[in-house]
Amino acid sequence: MKKNFDILIIGSGIIGMTLAIELKKLFSDSQIAILEKESQIAQHASGRNSGVLHAGFYYSADSLKAKFTRDGNIAMRDYCQQKNLKINQCGKLVVTKNEAELTGLKELQRRATANNVHLDWIDEKQAQDIEPNVKTHQNALWSPNTATVDPKEIMNSLRQDVQAMGITLLKNTLYVGKIKNKNAITTNQGTFEASYIINTAGLYADKIANDFNFSEHYRILPFKGLYLYSNNNKTKLNTNIYPVPNLEHPFLGVHFTLTVDGLAKIGPTAIPAFWREHYQGFDRFNFSEFLEVIGRESRLFINNKFNFRQLAYTEVKKYYRPHMIAEAEKLLQNTKQMQFNQWGKPGIRAQLINTKDYSLEMDFKFEGDNKSFHVLNAVSPAFTCSIPFSQYLAKKIQGLIG
Ligand SMILES: Cc1cc2nc3c(=O)[nH]c(=O)nc-3n(C[C@H](O)[C@H](O)[C@H](O)COP(=O)(O)OP(=O)(O)OC[C@H]3O[C@@H](n4cnc5c(N)ncnc54)[C@H](O)[C@@H]3O)c2cc1C
Repeated sequence: MKKNFDILIIGSGIIGMTLAIELKKLFSDSQIAILEKESQIAQHASGRNSGVLHAGFYYSADSLKAKFTRDGNIAMRDYCQQKNLKINQCGKLVVTKNEAELTGLKELQRRATANNVHLDWIDEKQAQDIEPNVKTHQNALWSPNTATVDPKEIMNSLRQDVQAMGITLLKNTLYVGKIKNKNAITTNQGTFEASYIINTAGLYADKIANDFNFSEHYRILPFKGLYLYSNNNKTKLNTNIYPVPNLEHPFLGVHFTLTVDGLAKIGPTAIPAFWREHYQGFDRFNFSEFLEVIGRESRLFINNKFNFRQLAYTEVKKYYRPHMIAEAEKLLQNTKQMQFNQWGKPGIRAQLINTKDYSLEMDFKFEGDNKSFHVLNAVSPAFTCSIPFSQYLAKKIQGLIG
């Protein structure tokens, strides 16, 4: 097996895949390989998300997320069209529960205008014309460009693109560590060498970056996203329905989304997980990770940074199905009749915290030099952002390589 490449990418999530494609366009003669520890692609965030192509109105206009969400929404809708992939162009309503939330709604409208994103300020009647059972206090926002896709279908299509471009994809290949004084790594399949090494390892990105002396002040805090599916979609939901989020946190609150096939689901939660791949029960339990994550969470709990105590308390309650449904019912009448009684596959967010002040990192982060590059905090909506974000990163890497 060939083990010497020009560019080696660790992690075949949507960021690893799209970045490999953009780098191959810039360096067409180079030998590029992607290493993936799992036996199949899309086993983590890129295959376990809500599948929403966000429009780009949640983030302040000076952030990378704002620009890349707006541009990524267009790029991914074009990609789906070009490749004949499923897309549900069902839009999104953002609704308010009370007078106080109108301030948050206005802030979202202001951010949309600043970021040049199409968003309509509508009244209760107009919201009910779109979704007859929706509940809102006086006003709502309508985002016509929000859409849903099938993340696994997109990942599969990207896998075909990668292979068609001559990029090597090596599955069952786990990064284990960096070899000192060499641009080489050890894996469970032996040693690999490369002129340039890129880390797009999602939940493990901080650990790998540490081996290369990066991510000094950043650590990943895993947050579990649970979904409840309706097995009776009689209510015929027309659109995605979201509450006004707490803009201090990167999570959007319990909401309704539609799949590409028109099935409804509620979620995802943002429950603090106890280890990185803590999907269910003791799956992938790792004692040292458990101690590390619990230590960090205990510290956040004691210091109550970013109101972590309240966040943990509010989120943990959502393990209880009736509570989750009650939360969703604040946005839509007749939720109970939709029979949300099937838990779906959970996903885990690789959220970065800054250990200098234990704050949550709200924007994408990356670090690198002329030998290696590390994508940190590729959290939601990095799926939507992936195409323009990777174009931007590929140019950055080109600049670093010189
Ligand atoms: C619950 C949830 C809902 C979301 N909803 C949305 C949404 O609706 N819209 C949106 O735009 N975004 C959404 N996101 C965010 C989006 O899914 C992620 O931002 C994106 O998938 C991150 O991609 P990635 O490539 O960085 O990570 P990943 O998909 O996690 O890929 C990382 C890869 O690295 C591999 N890896 C890790 N360690 C190693 C190692 N040591 N050796 C080899 N390989 C390794 C992993 O196996 C994995 O395949 C959501 C995320 C979650 C968790």
